[in-house]
Amino acid sequence: MKFIADAMLGRLARWLRLMGFDTLYFADISDGELLRRALDEQRTILTRDTAFLKRKTGDCVFIKSNDPFEQLDQVLKDLRPETPGKRRCANCNGVLAAVAHKGEVADSVPEYVYLNHNHFLRCGGCGNIYWEGSQYMKLMAKLEEISGNPGGRGD
Ligand SMILES: [Zn+2]
Repeated sequence: MKFIADAMLGRLARWLRLMGFDTLYFADISDGELLRRALDEQRTILTRDTAFLKRKTGDCVFIKSNDPFEQLDQVLKDLRPETPGKRRCANCNGVLAAVAHKGEVADSVPEYVYLNHNHFLRCGGCGNIYWEGSQYMKLMAKLEEISGNPGGRGD
């Protein structure tokens, strides 16, 4: 299942990417363009805009809440998307791959990170590096907890 999120769902889009879902998001995109890409690429539209529902074109899900946790909960519960095996970059939706040799990222991460970590992921799109303990990886773990336990934030 692939998604395209409207401009009001930036955080949800980033979180879905971290969970591995192919999710397009543009902070600035017209309704027509969003719809066109959704149809072309067979993506489910996630929107806070009721106008989309009235058009009745394409696969469209109205996201009820303003709260990103509740938004994610709704997507996982209502659509029950199959969890992808790979992860994606929060920034660009590129697929993340494990870095085989730590030395490859020596120049790309802060020194304390390099010295304290051994496992890194690199985005095939923008080249962004992710590592255990980074803000994004912590978020990934939290999101995994949520997805494995729908219905609560686990706190
Ligand atoms: Zn990227």
